[in-house]
Amino acid sequence: MALELLQIPCLTDNYTVLAHEPSTGETFCVDAPDARPILSALAERGWKLTHLLITHHHKDHIQGLDQLKTQFGCKVYGPEAESDKIVGLDETLKEGDHFDFAGHPVTVFETPGHTLGHICYHLPEDKLLFAGDTLFVGGCGRIFEGTPAQMWNSLSKLAALPGDTNIYCGHEYTLSNVEFAMKIEPNNIDLQTRLHEVREKRANNQPTVPSTIGAELKANPFLRPFSQEIRAYFGLDSASDLEVFTKVREAKDQG
Ligand code: ZN
Ligand code: FE
Repeated sequence: MALELLQIPCLTDNYTVLAHEPSTGETFCVDAPDARPILSALAERGWKLTHLLITHHHKDHIQGLDQLKTQFGCKVYGPEAESDKIVGLDETLKEGDHFDFAGHPVTVFETPGHTLGHICYHLPEDKLLFAGDTLFVGGCGRIFEGTPAQMWNSLSKLAALPGDTNIYCGHEYTLSNVEFAMKIEPNNIDLQTRLHEVREKRANNQPTVPSTIGAELKANPFLRPFSQEIRAYFGLDSASDLEVFTKVREAKDQG
């Protein structure tokens, strides 16, 4: 059956998602920024948490893990490469691993860059990608542990997924991302439209997540190093995609 999805705002600007399979009653949660809003959402729907999927070791993604596991005895999945940093993992995952969630295949991408062990979860049959802090709507995660080359390689894997793949990510950073993008690619019509839509949604306190791979390819500057306008902005007309990506990331970090 189709999964029922519920996105829950947590902490200041984090998101988590509950996915529920009605035919078996199983439910997974992606990351655990804070147990409280997750527990309320589960109680409200009468869902029991059976699986918890962790993307990376940062505190704002795991600090509710212990409480959720204690309460539900759910099975906790997470990156093998960060198993020393995350307490409570039952299954450790690496590139290409797959498992079954209530009849739905889940595949794992290693996406180092934001952290060295970061993983993303892909449900190809459901057209869902849980991108954690690797790919944001209009942006990408800061490169805290890896190199720009690792991050670019990680983003390239995600960008190659079918355009109608829905992307859920770890934070509501879209408005700042889109305002930055407008500085470096102001003539991109898809971006102009996005700015409009995002401003309206945020003014009404609505989420801008999820997006799709197709929409990101049109308006996310971190997936667009091929753009002549972005290249011209940085004076990098004949540079490699990696060089352009690196420059875009640096420019966003500066401000
Ligand atoms: Zn993070
Ligand atoms: Fe985060």
